[in-house]
Amino acid sequence: MVVVSSSGISGAVKRSGPAQSSQPQIIKPRQKIQRDASTKLNIIIVGAGLGGVGAAIGLLLGGHDVTILESAPQIAEVGAGIQVLPNASRLLQEWGMKEALDRYSTAPSHVNMLGWKGNTITRMSTEDSAKLYPGTAYWDFHRANLHKCLVERAEELGAKLVVNSKVANVVAKEEGAQCFLKTVQSGKRIS
Ligand SMILES: Cc1cc2nc3c(=O)[nH]c(=O)nc-3n(C[C@H](O)[C@H](O)[C@H](O)COP(=O)(O)OP(=O)(O)OC[C@H]3O[C@@H](n4cnc5c(N)ncnc54)[C@H](O)[C@@H]3O)c2cc1C
Repeated sequence: MVVVSSSGISGAVKRSGPAQSSQPQIIKPRQKIQRDASTKLNIIIVGAGLGGVGAAIGLLLGGHDVTILESAPQIAEVGAGIQVLPNASRLLQEWGMKEALDRYSTAPSHVNMLGWKGNTITRMSTEDSAKLYPGTAYWDFHRANLHKCLVERAEELGAKLVVNSKVANVVAKEEGAQCFLKTVQSGKRIS
């Protein structure tokens, strides 16, 4: 079975430009929590993919310090399209990214489920589905654009991104939650 969106390979409908939500309700961006040293964590995330950078944004908004170690020599995302569903578009708006993402998103009108012979198995209206979750939308992106916006937001919030840092080992110490990360290139320990 092949699952495609209408802005994808089926090509039935494609709207370029800013994503349109039929919902008037606005999802407000979260404010960054201010913490003192007694509750602020020093967090290391391994890998600057969509997951790692997204986690960094959530943790930074939670008031913690975040360092992301990436093995590649530069921060980048490869690949093709990615579909963002209502739960994720809600988070991206809460992370204060709507304006930046509006430049790159397209809004599919339907998701078609096709059999291998191209026959339609079922079809779902994304607009009707998003109405069940006010303020959200279905968005499609090129991965590189979504990733670029996430990296920019993480850096704006204070993330420290370190490339050429392949993590070879993590050692959790019993007397605390401190971890030691040994990077392959430098052999240095980061805590
Ligand atoms: C074909 C396909 C289609 C998909 N479509 C969708 C979709 O439409 N919507 C959706 O929500 N999801 C989709 N997904 C899932 C989504 O792409 C993944 O969940 C997401 O990209 C995972 O992100 P990640 O950051 O966890 O991992 P990755 O993107 O794999 O990033 C991992 C990063 O960690 C780095 N790294 C690895 N090991 C180390 C190390 N030891 N030290 C330092 N750095 C390291 C890597 O270089 C890389 O940059 C799809 C997945 C596939 C395969």
